[in-house]
Amino acid sequence: MLTLYRQRKKSIREEVGEMIVVMVNGAKEEQIDDVVRRVENAGLQAHVSRGMEQTLIGVVGDKRNYPEVLSLEVMPGVEKIIPILQPFKMASRSFKQEDSSVKVGNLVIGGDTIHIMAGPCAVESREQLFETAWQVKEAGATILRGGAFKPRTSPYSFQGLEEEGLKLLAEAREATGLYIVTEVMDTRTVEVVNEYTDIIQIGARNMQNFVLLKEVSSVNKPVLLKRGLSATIEEWLMAAEYIMAGGNHNVIMCERGIRSFDTYTRNTLDLCAIPVVKHLSHLPVVADPSHGIGKWRFVPAMSRAAIASGADGLIIEVHVSPETAWCDGPQSLNPVKFAAMMADLRNIAKVMGKNL
Ligand code: PEP
Ligand code: MN
Repeated sequence: MLTLYRQRKKSIREEVGEMIVVMVNGAKEEQIDDVVRRVENAGLQAHVSRGMEQTLIGVVGDKRNYPEVLSLEVMPGVEKIIPILQPFKMASRSFKQEDSSVKVGNLVIGGDTIHIMAGPCAVESREQLFETAWQVKEAGATILRGGAFKPRTSPYSFQGLEEEGLKLLAEAREATGLYIVTEVMDTRTVEVVNEYTDIIQIGARNMQNFVLLKEVSSVNKPVLLKRGLSATIEEWLMAAEYIMAGGNHNVIMCERGIRSFDTYTRNTLDLCAIPVVKHLSHLPVVADPSHGIGKWRFVPAMSRAAIASGADGLIIEVHVSPETAWCDGPQSLNPVKFAAMMADLRNIAKVMGKNL
């Protein structure tokens, strides 16, 4: 009985699940337009993805409207319909077969070049930020990280310089030419963070803050989406789906370590997640070995491993004086150690056929 029920359930899902319309090779523009019109007239969304050979049209939306587009298969120019069985749709590899890349100014994340985001955990002062910025730039970083709104475990810890910190980040960008990534923690500050930053970071603790995800989904800026402390890969991809479903397709996935039973390291950098997410999804993936392992000594090894696992970039905490850092000093590299690590990473990048 249960088996019958499962089979029935599966067949219903296959009939009415979200789907990819695969057009024949060389399908005509009018044929593609006709399919899109048909989907949209049924109250569903059509996402056209033009590959080298074939055009795919992803169909998502309220499932109750699916019966109306079931006959798409017989339309001219349509080769077949493939149901998307994963719960994440736009983020899935079946939705878009080629790797996606995310543009940040004139940089491309998810292409042939590995980008390194580096800087302090928190913006503390102009001197601290600028000195770190110049040093990471000198060593080859292209993006400056720095928190202005900090998610601290204790309410008595330093909470960040807030807008003053954002202003300093923007000034550092002006001075050095580095792009900026900084965290937004609250829907009320999305506007001000967006005003200053080049990439909006969603922190691990907010990965399932769906209201915040919806808010950044309507912003025209790339989003660095950190994996939640104990989020499964599927939950993490569903968080990306929230951002994409709201219209922002510029999502960069960031593996930053998950909770495990070990207490020696701060977290466990889940290197498995890098090839798995790249298999399940077309989105670029970067790694954060600093939070992933939580001890500066091991950050270079984890950084090399992340690049060897296929990461498109890294986000690394660097502080001019880790001993006196207001936040995350024990996992921060000083600029000399960061530069030495970068030299090794270039060799690994070369093996992976990438530039750094
Ligand atoms: C950070 O990048 O400083 C940070 C707080 O990261 P996470 O959200 O991954 O803990
Ligand atoms: Mn930190």
